[in-house]
Amino acid sequence: MSEQANAIAKKAELQLEFEKVEKSFKLQGIRTLEQILSTGEAKKSEGFDDKYHFAHWWMEQISKQSGACHYCEVQFADIKELIDAKFLRERKTGYGYRGIPPEIDRLDSIAAKNVYSPSNCVLACYYCNNDKSNIYPAKLFKKYLGPARKALVEGLLLELRTENKAA
Ligand SMILES: [Zn+2]
Repeated sequence: MSEQANAIAKKAELQLEFEKVEKSFKLQGIRTLEQILSTGEAKKSEGFDDKYHFAHWWMEQISKQSGACHYCEVQFADIKELIDAKFLRERKTGYGYRGIPPEIDRLDSIAAKNVYSPSNCVLACYYCNNDKSNIYPAKLFKKYLGPARKALVEGLLLELRTENKAA
């Protein structure tokens, strides 16, 4: 198989896999396969074989995390719902908006293993990723701040859904 045909076959296989996770975790409007591959392009030098390896990892990881942030365990679909309703704000950065898309966080960003690799990475919401930064150890951040953020987001969802019901 030529390199080009090989790439097309790999992409088709990924597309099928992606459609399954997209449907299971309501990822429409949250991330496209193209965007995941393009993130993979940047991360490959760090510890993923190539962008396809990264995309496979991403889909496995979102399934393992049941479509939710590793730290607060809030569904990415719920975060999108809140942002769409303007109950939660995005943050504009030099390269786009942070808020809706799952971000790649390094569990261990403090010790020597500070790399993007399949075993050191999780998918986190922007809000957790931004707070944790490379400041807090992942385990303690998840244990103490995860439940607090989940409670806050559930409060927002309750307000939003009550308001929608009243309207
Ligand atoms: Zn989170």
